Amino acid sequence: MTAAIYIDPLVIQPVIDGEWHRIRLTEIPAPGQIITMLCGASGAAMFQLSDDERRRQRGIPRQCERCDAIYRHERGIPLRQNRTGRP
Ligand SMILES: [Zn+2]
Repeated sequence: MTAAIYIDPLVIQPVIDGEWHRIRLTEIPAPGQIITMLCGASGAAMFQLSDDERRRQRGIPRQCERCDAIYRHERGIPLRQNRTGRP
């Protein structure tokens, strides 16, 4: 028996050095697998509960500007000044 946990790829935003990045995923990466963000940054995938990350960072990480710009450009979403909200 499996208990499937579905993850929406749109909500996966890997954090590197306190910055949220965006990534285009076609499948769930394996832990430790090197994944590359839209901006070109890469790192080994690590899964954590988002609550843990927020506690560790003591605040909400910044959005990577380059990933955000690329993501918005691809989707035709205009850049916005207020980056605190979620799309
Ligand atoms: Zn980025």
